[in-house]
Amino acid sequence: LGTFTLQVLGTSSATPAFSRLPSAQVVNYNDRYYLIDCGEGTQMQFLRYGIRYARLDAIFISHLHGDHILGLPGMLASMSILERTEPLPIFAPRALKELLDTTFKLSESYIRYELVFHALEDFEPGQVIFETEKLQVTSIPLDHRTWCRGFLFREVHKRRKFNFHAAKQLEVPRECFHLLKLGNDITLADGREIKAEYVTYPPESPLSYAYCSDTRYNEELVPWIKEVSLLYHEATFTEGFAKRAAETYHSTARQAATVAQMADVRHLLLGHYSARYRDLTPLLDEARAVFPHVDLALEGRFYDLKALQGEPREETPIEEGEEATDV
Ligand SMILES: [Zn+2]
Repeated sequence: LGTFTLQVLGTSSATPAFSRLPSAQVVNYNDRYYLIDCGEGTQMQFLRYGIRYARLDAIFISHLHGDHILGLPGMLASMSILERTEPLPIFAPRALKELLDTTFKLSESYIRYELVFHALEDFEPGQVIFETEKLQVTSIPLDHRTWCRGFLFREVHKRRKFNFHAAKQLEVPRECFHLLKLGNDITLADGREIKAEYVTYPPESPLSYAYCSDTRYNEELVPWIKEVSLLYHEATFTEGFAKRAAETYHSTARQAATVAQMADVRHLLLGHYSARYRDLTPLLDEARAVFPHVDLALEGRFYDLKALQGEPREETPIEEGEEATDV
């Protein structure tokens, strides 16, 4: 069975605060690991949560502010010490290469594997920047005070599943299975028409994850993230600091929820919290008033996209005397 999970490693903006660290997340898709942003302390988080970071499959960096990249040189250097040999693709703003080259040179850190650098500026938003057989990654334009892109991880369209039992009952010859599986209707030698839908199950809807940090409130983001399974949208401030959010090109929790609602996403995850909030409840409450399917991103926490997708939209009221059962 395929897995599509997100593990959050850092949720703090600007500086570490309380038990929170700067931005970093890991997407696991079918046992391949993709790192998004790499704030200071990310290596320690990998150790804490038992993720073997030397085997990361690719790294995606949204922008060059320190709280999103300062963990990167150290982590890449450690990977070399840990004897990584496979090439490592990095997708990031172009200037990151200069920063890394200079850091490695002056700190005498020798990277013995190949860093395959891809400048995000070379890709149009929405253009595929990375893909595997079953997953595609595209970049999303964000509205920040420095050049910044979000990322959309989307499963490629799934095939219909074949129903062997139905095919057998209809006495469909085996050599026709392949055409039907691909969705073609066929006519058998005896003149019977067999529609693909008779012998296949509808495909599961593809899962998708959108990472949108950092950005100020911008409704132009909505079409890029329409109906994603899970949206991570920064929520640096509460609405009382809306002016400060606009000035610093950040969002409030209410604004994140408004974007989630307009895009009709399945589930919203808040993060990138200002150090002024020890208790994050006000951010959650503010978002929930606008969009009910919302959680706070917290260090170490897993989010299973399949489980979130399957979650019912509306609460079904439980009749009196009836027991709630897990479905
Ligand atoms: Zn930033």
